[in-house]
This record gives sequence, C-alpha cells and structure tokens, in this order.
Amino acid sequence: MLEHDAILVEPLGLVVAASIWWLYFERWSSHADGRHPFRLSIDLLPLDLMAMTTDASTGVVTSRNPATGALVAETAASTPNDVARAVGRASEAYLRWSGLPPQARAAVLVRFAELVERERDELAGLIVAEVGKLRAEAEAEVDWTALSARWYAEHLPRSERRGGATVIRRPLGVVAAVTPWNAPLITPAWKWLPALVSGNAVVWKPSELSTAVALATTKLWRETDLPDHVLELVPGGAEAGRVLCEDPRVAAVHFTGSTETGLRVAAAVAARSARCALELGGLNSAIVFADADVERAADCIVAAAVAVNGQKCTSARRALVERGADERLLSALATRFEALRLGDPASPATTLGPLITPSARARAESALKRVVGAGAEIVARAPSLDDPGLDEAGFFPATLIRGVPPTDPLRRCELFAPVLSVEIFERDEDAWRIANDTPYGLAAAVYTTSPERIAAAQDRLEVGVLGVNRRCDSAELEAPFGGAKASGNGFPEGGEYAYGGVTMLKAVYD
Ligand code: NAD
Repeated sequence: MLEHDAILVEPLGLVVAASIWWLYFERWSSHADGRHPFRLSIDLLPLDLMAMTTDASTGVVTSRNPATGALVAETAASTPNDVARAVGRASEAYLRWSGLPPQARAAVLVRFAELVERERDELAGLIVAEVGKLRAEAEAEVDWTALSARWYAEHLPRSERRGGATVIRRPLGVVAAVTPWNAPLITPAWKWLPALVSGNAVVWKPSELSTAVALATTKLWRETDLPDHVLELVPGGAEAGRVLCEDPRVAAVHFTGSTETGLRVAAAVAARSARCALELGGLNSAIVFADADVERAADCIVAAAVAVNGQKCTSARRALVERGADERLLSALATRFEALRLGDPASPATTLGPLITPSARARAESALKRVVGAGAEIVARAPSLDDPGLDEAGFFPATLIRGVPPTDPLRRCELFAPVLSVEIFERDEDAWRIANDTPYGLAAAVYTTSPERIAAAQDRLEVGVLGVNRRCDSAELEAPFGGAKASGNGFPEGGEYAYGGVTMLKAVYD
C-alpha cells in the first residue's frame, strides 16, 4: 500500500493534492440541490492524493465527469521511477504476505468487504460522477465487489489429490493489474481479490479516466490489516502501464482493456517468461430465430446494448435475425430504443447516460456518419431529454441501424457506444457463420425454443460467454468470464477459475 510517510511529496504534488481536495469539497458541497443525490465523504480522498504524488512528474492525468465535463480528479502520473519503486516495495511485501496463513489473508478480504459496504453510497456516487454509469449500475458494481471479496475469503485455493501426488497452488509473486475505466471497481477487484488471497502482491495501474475511484478504493484497503505495500497503486496513463508490464520483477500481468492495447502488452510480456492474462474487446452477436419469443429477445438485446451506456465489453452490437422474424424484431427493438431516456446518470429517470469522453462521442458520431453514408439506415434513436447540457460532454443517443455494408468497419471492429446493427440471415448455418466472422470471440446470445439450435449454438459459436434466451452480457461470480480469439487468451476470471491466472501448480509426491 502507498504510505504517505514512505513517499517523497514534491511541491507540484502538494499543489495537485490540495487542489483536488478543494475541488471535491467545492463540487460536492455545491450540489446540495438534490441533482446529485449523494455527498462524497471527502475523507475518502485527500490522504491518498498526498501519498501518490511523484518525485519527478512526467505529466498529469485528469478525469472529468462525462455528463458535465467538470473536473473529478487530476493528479501527477506515476513516473517510470515511481512504478519501479512500487514493484520493488511489492516484491519485498510479497515475501511476508505469502508466508501468512491463508485464513489471515481471507480475514483482510472480509474487512475490505465490510468497508466497501460501509462506503456504498460514496463509492457508487463516485462511479456515477467519474465514468457516467447509472446510479443503479454503480450500486450493483459496489455490491458485487463486496460480495466478491466475501466469496474469495470463503473459497481459498484448494489442493487436490492426483494419484500419488498432492497438487497445491502457490502464488506467483508480484502481479500487475492494468484495468480500464468502464467497471472501475469490479474489474480490478476480480484481479486483486484472487491474487491477494492466494498470497501474491499486486501493483495496480487503474485507468487514467477513473483515478478517483482507484484512490477511494486504495484508501479503503489501507483501513484493513493488509500489510504495507502488498497492494501498490500506480496512477497514470499508457506510459505507467507500459513500464509496469515490462518490469522483469512482475511475475504475471493481468490486463483488461482494448484488444489493440492488450496485444501490445502481450508482446512486451512475451519478451520474458511471465504470465500474461488478457481480457479484451468484443463484437457480440444476439441471434434471434423465428421460433423465439421476440418480445423477450428484444428486452434482452436492448438491455445488453445500452447497459453502461453501450460501453461494456459484452455489449450487444449486432442482432442477427432469421428472415420472417425481422420486421417483428425491428419494431420491438425500435419501440424500446425510442423509450430510452438520455440524461444525467445520477437521475433515477435516466436510462441512458453519456459516453466516457467527448472524443468517444466524436468517434461514435463519425462511425455513424460513415456507415449511413455507405448505405445503412437509422431505424431508431434514443430521444434526448430537453436539456441543453446534453449537447455537450459525452451524450450520444443510442442508435438502431440496419443495412450495414459487409465491408464497413462496424462489421469487424468494436465501436464502444450504444449502436446496435440488425442483419437478416436465411439459414441456421448463416447465423453461426456471420456471428463468428469477426476477429473477436467474447460473448453471444441465442433466442430460440429449439433444443437442437441451442445445442448447435453451444457447439458452433466461438465465444466465452453465451446467453440462451438471456442477455449476452450475462456474468456470474462463480462462472468463468473470458473470451476467445482477439477477446482473450485463456486465463478467465470468475470464481475459482481466476486462480489459474494468479497461481502456479506444484505436484508434491508425498
Ligand atoms: P484501453 O486499452 O485504452 O486501456 C486499458 C488500460 O491499459 C488503461 O489502464 C490504460 O491506461 C492502459 N494502457 C494503455 N496503453 C498501455 C500500454 N501500452 N501498456 C500497458 N497499459 C496500457 O481500454 P479502455 O478504453 O480503458 O477500456 C475499454 C476497452 O476495454 C474496450 O475495448 C472493452 O471491450 C475492453 N474491456 C474488456 C473487458 C473484458 O473483460 N474482456 C472488460 C472491460 C473492458
């Protein structure tokens, strides 16, 4: 853990820390009008900001409220030296931590869960403010984090008897966790919880767009009995992530993010013999057969297309519908898109919030313009609330399209926005072929009443997550979560499966 007495605090750092403290205080106290129905406990932040300042700043990372553009956090980025020192401290802390009885490590996780539960409102509010999730989504993320901590505390890595050997799991050493912004708490939690409870130390490089959530979380860890430096936070952007992944003392890199970045990380880690676990992007299909309950399918598909404002790796991007059911499905999808309420994610009336940044919005608009110029048709768009503020920041209406030309990048690349394209297929064989015809292999859903088609979907779809008459963005704590092809490299997260990525097996002939 970062300890402020262990870190040099330079003048720039002090200025940044002080300004953040002021910004938080000012921001949250100035919204007592009820528009932001939470008040951030300012206790959650300032100490960490003091602690994380650098001795030779290479820059500043900034996160802004996607709905308003207001500054949420601004801090000095970790320099290569900061990262190297963090890895060094974690390497030493690992020796002590891995020697503790597993139950002692589990007790730390239980305490962390209690603290997350205690700070539920503040953490959820911070997630809404920093990454634009709807309040209910943010609360679910916080709850899931606490639940996961308790689950890992109760399900420690197990040894097994295999013939004349006992197979035990041993920690790897220092695990690097590099994470994105779209699930700023649960995605890192699914890396650090199994890693920590099995005896590893962790150096965490959160997304530069969710630094405030990372700071608040780190502060909670510091309240537990986790020994110093077992979890090190290195805030920063791409450079801090690159330096961390390349550090030869890091035994395993656990990366979640875009496929483009993930492949770069994999190349860096391949230069040495370290483990590399990748959870990457997706281009996920929902396949609707004519025998399906089309209304239910439409409910699931729209929910999966707009959850987290269309910014989930498992978001529904394509609806493939059997000819004959296409008009029914299009109409059901359009009705649901048009009923969406785009607006302030903190408001309970809102069902679709903003994209993470104005540049994400610009990318989505440009892709939409391109595909419409190439002949696609917009079937429906989520209407905006009558609020002039929606013209700014990241607001982008959810959009239902059809007729995407086969050569358009939308057929091959992930667009991280609530855009759903509908394509018609004639034969079952075509459905499997079209769904698999992308570089990705993360998630899919199939809607049908036919047991044969369900069996065929299980066999044929090249994905790690398959919803059967359920959402393609389904996930459960005890099930494996990960993708194939350009979506992942075979170290799934979730439940006990996660131990495969953070431990080594040792066969003990006894
Ligand atoms: P990103 O790839 O831009 O960044 C992810 C993390 O990598 C950030 O912390 C970033 O600072 C860091 N980074 C950037 N360049 C780096 C480098 N060269 N070396 C090391 N680290 C580097 O992704 P993002 O925009 O934060 O997140 C969105 C993407 O993440 C989408 O593609 C989404 O599908 C994917 N995602 C995947 C999953 C999954 O479980 N499969 C879950 C959530 C998000």
